[in-house]
Amino acid sequence: MNRPAIVRTNTAELYDAYVMKNYNRAPLTLVRGQGVAVWDDTGREYLDFTSGVAVAALGHCHPVWVEAIRRQAGELIHVSNLFRHPNQGELARRLVRHAGPGRVFFCNSGTEANEGLIKLARLHGIRKSGEEGRCIKIICAKHAFHGRTFGGMSATPQEKVQKGFRPLVPGFAFGELNNLQSFADLVDEGTAAIFLETIQGEGGVTPCTDEFLWGVRQLCDQHNLLLMLDEVQCGLGRTGTFYAFQHSGVRTDAIGMAKGLAGGYPMGALWAAEKHAELFTPGSHGSTFGGTPLACAAALAVLDVIERENLLEKVKANGVAWKTELEQLVAEFPRQVKAVTGRGYMIGLVLQSEPPPYLAALREAGLLAVVAGGNSIRLLPPLIATREHLDRATAILRSVLANKAAV
Ligand SMILES: *Cc1c(COP(=O)(O)O)cnc(C)c1O
Repeated sequence: MNRPAIVRTNTAELYDAYVMKNYNRAPLTLVRGQGVAVWDDTGREYLDFTSGVAVAALGHCHPVWVEAIRRQAGELIHVSNLFRHPNQGELARRLVRHAGPGRVFFCNSGTEANEGLIKLARLHGIRKSGEEGRCIKIICAKHAFHGRTFGGMSATPQEKVQKGFRPLVPGFAFGELNNLQSFADLVDEGTAAIFLETIQGEGGVTPCTDEFLWGVRQLCDQHNLLLMLDEVQCGLGRTGTFYAFQHSGVRTDAIGMAKGLAGGYPMGALWAAEKHAELFTPGSHGSTFGGTPLACAAALAVLDVIERENLLEKVKANGVAWKTELEQLVAEFPRQVKAVTGRGYMIGLVLQSEPPPYLAALREAGLLAVVAGGNSIRLLPPLIATREHLDRATAILRSVLANKAAV
């Protein structure tokens, strides 16, 4: 039986009446997507440089991805982790190939991946101190974003995230990103881990410098701390390497991932190096939905396309050229744009004023982008975006900036 067509004029009213008001949504109802394009309910087309906040790695409805989900949905969708399934084993193998010798745990979101990392740090603290509760400190960075559950939120030192929800999980301390001394000053006997986004996303697109990452690695080695990287947003090819930390060549102990992993199907995962992965023993952690045959089929399709279409190389090369183009905008409109940050397809445009009017103007001109902290606009095209797509976005940005400069 066919479902009756959704009455489009009604959608805004339905949201008003029935959906919780915890988001400032754009006044836009999207009904269809294909590649880098999405369409609203009036038939208007937009260039989607949000990718559903870095999720739709292959763009919308990539045929390989759609077919993988269709096929798996007709075969086996969910069995729980009481049993094995070939897809989960194969996906773990492929992720380990990228991350290094170790093991993977599957879950359903970024914050859940990070909860796993926080729990891993607690277990490492026990191994280190011989006692539960004595070595629990995790040092994170100011302006970080690690998610909305209690662990992730406690690791996220932003008033707008934490307000109303205290008391938080104890044991988190915060250093200045890219200031090694500020991290070193926080390390003590009771410290278990350092936990960082390789490139901060929500807080403004701010990368860790290579020098800082190497310094943190050394600090972790000196004090027997885990170096845990949140690659939920910047990982999975977004910057032109499979993980963003690979640009620096640094070694990490554990990685949290999610957003782009299954290309739009909800999925998270954490990887830990072998000697840390064994801290999780039967019964110590779990997830009912984690790593279902369907989620893994979607993720395997993403990895297949990334490899087959050589997307890492393309994102890397296109990203370098695009950033140069965008830096032109800083030169042309210094009173509107302060700087361009990030790399690959994770780019921040640091504005001189609040982003919302710019986001609205871009939307009017046919380009969807994401707000970020520090007056930044985030540009997160899908990994399949070509030079032509990037050029179109740059042209729209230029026209919007020229308009703003004129008023
Ligand atoms: C989005 C994000 C999260 C949270 O992911 P959810 O899937 O929304 O729980 C955590 N860390 C980073 C770096 C993110 O960008």
